[in-house]
Amino acid sequence: MTRRRLNPAADPVLVIATHNPGKLREIEALVAPYGFSAVSAGALGLPEPAEDGTTFIENARIKALAAARASGKPALADDSGIAVEALHGAPGIFSARWAGPGKDFAAAMDRVRRELSWRGAEEGARAHFVSALTLAWPDGHCEDFEGVSHGTLTFPPRGERGFGYDPIFVPEGGARTYAEIDPAEKNRTSHRADAFRQLDAACLA
Ligand code: IMP
Repeated sequence: MTRRRLNPAADPVLVIATHNPGKLREIEALVAPYGFSAVSAGALGLPEPAEDGTTFIENARIKALAAARASGKPALADDSGIAVEALHGAPGIFSARWAGPGKDFAAAMDRVRRELSWRGAEEGARAHFVSALTLAWPDGHCEDFEGVSHGTLTFPPRGERGFGYDPIFVPEGGARTYAEIDPAEKNRTSHRADAFRQLDAACLA
């Protein structure tokens, strides 16, 4: 299938199909250098579709297509999560759901710790973040990309920056968690940055 490119001169506004402020901040920083102004689905009052896909990419497509169709503009969605190897990839696509309706990530990180400790595999457990990015147009065309960031888990959680599971994730080759490092450094090396580099090469460069 032929790739479709995104031209900021023709489509200067990119809808970011998220209601998650942490993700919005990171995605805005990634798209800003290309001259897009980003507006979130939340700010446009678009409804949040049910994420009932079985993979990160299926869920990213659901969100991007819903936002593109409802807004009439190209929309970018990220579906992401953390996969813990000793937990057979859990929480994976259920990463947000482990935090419950109150989005309590302290409780979600504690659940990861408990489930690892039952298996005697708490400290240094291998994990990876996944980010699936889908760029969708109002006519239903989609471009999908998947990025990964490998690392290990540490307990108790450390750091005040970032969001979600950042305080327990130490990226490969580092000593500090994603919640301790400068956000600009996370944006250079993260799963979202990896997926965005692929999107850039295919649809923006
Ligand atoms: P969803 O993609 O909105 O369904 O939710 C993904 C969930 O995965 C987020 O709510 C976070 O808990 C987690 N997550 C995704 N990316 C990151 C990240 O970069 N740092 C920390 N947690 C993340």
